Amino acid sequence: MKNVPVVIVIFGGSGDLAHRKLYPALYNLFEQGLLAENFAVIGTARRPWSHDYLREQVIDSVKETGAKTNLDRLTDFASHFYYQSHDVTNVEHYTAVKDLATELDQKYQAQGNRIFYMAMAPRFFGTIATHINDQKLTGSGFNRIVVEKPFGHSLDSAKVLNDEIKASFDESEIYRIDHYLGKEMIQNILPMRLSNPLIKNIWSSKYIKNVQVTLAENLGVEARGAYYETSGALRDMVQNHIFQIITLLAMGEPASLSSSDIHAKKQELVDSMLIPDSEFVTRHFVRGQYDRTDDTFSYLQEPNVAPDSKTETYVAGEVKFKAGALKDVPIYFRTGKKMREKKSRIDIVLRHMNNLYGQAHSNNITIIIDPRSEIYITINGKKIVGSGIRRENLTYRFDDYENAQVADGYERLLRDVVCGDQTNFTHWSELAKFWEFIDAVELAWSKENEAGKAVIAQYPQGKLGPVEADEIFETPTERWIYE
Ligand code: NAD
Repeated sequence: MKNVPVVIVIFGGSGDLAHRKLYPALYNLFEQGLLAENFAVIGTARRPWSHDYLREQVIDSVKETGAKTNLDRLTDFASHFYYQSHDVTNVEHYTAVKDLATELDQKYQAQGNRIFYMAMAPRFFGTIATHINDQKLTGSGFNRIVVEKPFGHSLDSAKVLNDEIKASFDESEIYRIDHYLGKEMIQNILPMRLSNPLIKNIWSSKYIKNVQVTLAENLGVEARGAYYETSGALRDMVQNHIFQIITLLAMGEPASLSSSDIHAKKQELVDSMLIPDSEFVTRHFVRGQYDRTDDTFSYLQEPNVAPDSKTETYVAGEVKFKAGALKDVPIYFRTGKKMREKKSRIDIVLRHMNNLYGQAHSNNITIIIDPRSEIYITINGKKIVGSGIRRENLTYRFDDYENAQVADGYERLLRDVVCGDQTNFTHWSELAKFWEFIDAVELAWSKENEAGKAVIAQYPQGKLGPVEADEIFETPTERWIYE
């Protein structure tokens, strides 16, 4: 792989994301030769760390992934790391980062290329972007900024943040990261859809009755009650991960696999997204909160959660598009905390057919994203003994060796940033439409709250959500496939 010269500045270099994901991902890019002699990484945070202490952290973070490493290589990799103590809210501190970046640029002949990674709480994103601009931290080569989620908490706040970032970065330099887009089976959606005529030719409302996306988590809000109160499942999971998955499922076929052709088709789809009104939300959305058990808290009993909180830890809903491959197909989604198991899956429900064998038999295509990578398709055949239909699954599955080769989402996406490939990052115009949808649902819910008509379904922990979610479908013959 061609070596890319670059100085990478990580804001939040002592944080969890940097330690668990970014440093191991950068190590793998180093092992692949994409980062070689000509790169340096500046970790910044408020703590008074030394370069050596950061390097120890970097080495530990790679070791903790269980990767087979060579200590000499690892030490060589870590020697490219530098620490700069820095409070992002103090404008004067940016001079030190700028000077260090300039020095390292010369030392490593990084050709003025810069990547800025905002691995910090979202409330700092705008401040950092503003000071990168007014303190002139950008280099003379390429400049790219990676922005973590959440990108705003509404359309208006996302616009403000976007304007702050746009003051120093062009859209082609902004990488709004959603790690779901780096996952193996998410990147498999288009190849699966487009490279087999059996699948490609049925990808329309003529054959697909509905699509169901489930992102279930088994953990609760843990220590993040205060943050979660400002977010909820809709903003935390639907606005980004679920809508990105749905976009890949529903977009039309791009003219090529170039980033611009893929984003053009995504945009065409997203522009046709139906924005729900209050009536639609009442009919096709359910919000819920997990209930207590004998041993565990309910959401309302969690630390830093208001006792009368209406924040949803679960949401199920529907979205439809007026363009794209799945024009007019109901797409249902649900996500929640404290559900039965951690599982991300997509069920494509094919239309029932009247056939010579009497009953209408359903056929589904299921994509398991987490915890393992799998696709299966239901096949109907005759029963071996007696009459009637027997159902079996044809399965696409990785063996242990293949599973071990699957790269972490952050590694793929960081590679894309280093290589300047925006295919798997969210464009502003897509994001803005997603927020428009989320704002419409939030508005409908706040009207229900004000009118005293809020229905927050309590659901038992360890199940797949409230029973009320079984009623969101357009027709009585539809039901959740994963149950
Ligand atoms: P964290 O709290 O572990 O780390 C935050 C970092 O910011 C720390 O290095 C801290 O020292 C630094 N910091 C805080 N205030 C500062 C200031 N005023 N000046 C300079 N540095 C300051 O957070 P995290 O879990 O690493 O998350 C970072 C971002 O990544 C968030 O936007 C989060 O939503 C996103 N994210 C994290 C994960 C994950 O697995 N941790 C996954 C997906 C997205």
